[in-house]
Amino acid sequence: MIGAVDIGGTKIAVGMVDPSGKVLARMQAPTDPENYSNGIELIARMLRATAENAGEEFSGIGIGSTGPVDPVLGEFGDVDFLPGWRGRSPVKDLAQIFKLRVALENDGDAAALAEAGWGVGRNCSRLIYVTVGTGIGGGIILDGQLYRGVDGAHPEVGHHVVDPAGPKCSCGFRGCWESLAAGPAMVARLEAHAPASYLHRSGITAKQICELAQQGDEVALQAVEHEAYYLGLGIANLINLFAPEVIVLSGSVMKSAALFLDRIHAVIDSGCRFVPAAKTQLRLASLGEDTNLIGAARVWHSRFGQ
Ligand SMILES: [Zn+2]
Repeated sequence: MIGAVDIGGTKIAVGMVDPSGKVLARMQAPTDPENYSNGIELIARMLRATAENAGEEFSGIGIGSTGPVDPVLGEFGDVDFLPGWRGRSPVKDLAQIFKLRVALENDGDAAALAEAGWGVGRNCSRLIYVTVGTGIGGGIILDGQLYRGVDGAHPEVGHHVVDPAGPKCSCGFRGCWESLAAGPAMVARLEAHAPASYLHRSGITAKQICELAQQGDEVALQAVEHEAYYLGLGIANLINLFAPEVIVLSGSVMKSAALFLDRIHAVIDSGCRFVPAAKTQLRLASLGEDTNLIGAARVWHSRFGQ
């Protein structure tokens, strides 16, 4: 049994995850972005409480966290929305409190490990996990191992440039995949192109656009078409670069994947001529709302397990 900790910008979730990847008990609480010590005490309390609820003891702790984090030192980097956590090491501190081995990864990497170990990517040794929501992130598994960059860096699949004339991105470039294909891009596109008379424009969300498209709304269908095109371009780039066995698609936008998949496949088919693109399967993530928690446990297995 592994104690799993998912640290996000707004909440911390903790759970007990069994050796098959099943979450037996879970709790969550708001993150205190300024006070790290309170955060660690809260995590320790929730670990003890979920273990009690599950009627189990845990033999290790896995952490998935919003990044950047240093997976080797177990320290927090410069995470915008957790300023008080910078340079602190939950790995060291939880290991001291519980006298157990603790492993940490970026949450995108944790989710990739989860889908590769216990989800739709089982038995696939080359897998790319992509989550499309308010941003685009993910993780890369090559030859069965989590791929890390120099100094343990987490590669940013959402920040490859798809259109240099595209919208400005927080990373410094214009036209990153994220700035063109994450949920907010679909909303911005609709807001910019819908006729003045369009009733649903004000305050519309990516989810509502998908619902309207399902009902045949022409303006929403155009936004969906555009979204699918850019999703397809980014996925095609990943196929050209890595020729993976599987790309696992996750995140709130991918809950409406049925609207996008035909167009995504058509974009891939229109290029990717020099790699066996037809052998790269696009699969929808299978682990549901608890993916990050399950991923946190998988981080431990991947680091210390057999
Ligand atoms: Zn960017």
